[in-house]
Amino acid sequence: MGIKSRKVAIVGTGLVGSSIGFSLITQGVCEEILMIDINEEKALGEAMDLNHCIEYLDQHTKVKVGKYEDCGDVDAIIITAGPPPKPGKSRLDTLGASAMIMESIITPIMESGFSGHFIIISNPVDIMAYHVWKLSGLPKSHVIGTGTSVDSARLKHFIADLFDVDPRSVQAYSMGEHGDSQMVPWSHVYIGGKPFNKVINDNKHRVGDIDLDKLVSDTAKAGWEVFNRKGTTYYGIATAAVGVLKAIFNDENRIIPVSTLLEGEYGFDGVFAGVPAVLNRNGVKELVEIEMTEEEKVKFDKSVNLIKDYCNTLKY
Ligand code: NAD
Repeated sequence: MGIKSRKVAIVGTGLVGSSIGFSLITQGVCEEILMIDINEEKALGEAMDLNHCIEYLDQHTKVKVGKYEDCGDVDAIIITAGPPPKPGKSRLDTLGASAMIMESIITPIMESGFSGHFIIISNPVDIMAYHVWKLSGLPKSHVIGTGTSVDSARLKHFIADLFDVDPRSVQAYSMGEHGDSQMVPWSHVYIGGKPFNKVINDNKHRVGDIDLDKLVSDTAKAGWEVFNRKGTTYYGIATAAVGVLKAIFNDENRIIPVSTLLEGEYGFDGVFAGVPAVLNRNGVKELVEIEMTEEEKVKFDKSVNLIKDYCNTLKY
């Protein structure tokens, strides 16, 4: 019996796409990567550079330049093609350009016979994940936007920093839009299993009063803070995307906040938004519906309604 190797395609081999390629080969997540870009020379350059790493890594990943017609037997396609946001603009401003790029990509990919998992990163990511789901006709479980996975990592970093603990000992989600309207259900934040409000109360002498609204806004603006200093962001999102892919490939049943289709959950229907989801070899196995306070639900609803309004501008 032949052993099937894990094959990933990265569409868009710019800063985010190439960082994902590097993360995949250094973590040994798959056996083969296809680098696909409208700029074939760029894709080739990245593939060459990645292949030159193999000698000093633990695993041999074959990295090649690919075309959409090669995607038939690919297990997962990570889409990062899209214009990077402009300084001072919102991620939503790239909607029209990104939507057209998705249309040019998804049709040939589906014609190749692809039936694997899509992981969408291109912004505005919640709307692009919805668009790819509509264009591809794949089951909802097979189309995942990275959504608030990276924002949640940033939030955990900020909280962990306040109390000098490892971010992985913090349980916290940023939810809703991967954008300015995202929100944090504080009633579900824990450090080492202890509710966050108790942690704050018990540590007033160390941390004083904590401005929760500022923490949310710092989280939402964290990408821009990086952007303003280095022109864009890529390591954080690349690592989050690879985390999502590993949860799928390794059948982890890991809970990660990702952008996924809501069908009745949280009172919404037919919209992609960042919510905690159980990920395994089937993609999104199920959503985790956490019980929010009234105030939290108002913020969540506002964020998801914003995504929904933009999704409704797309025509099929
Ligand atoms: P980049 O400009 O470095 O790379 C984009 C790549 O896409 C380029 O190589 C370009 O040639 C390619 N491309 C453009 N149109 C294409 C098409 N039709 N077909 C194939 N390839 C095409 O940009 P980047 O910094 O890598 O960002 C890429 C995308 O990722 C943007 O939409 C950005 O907003 C998004 N992003 C998302 C997050 C997130 O958290 N979701 C974080 C960072 C960046």
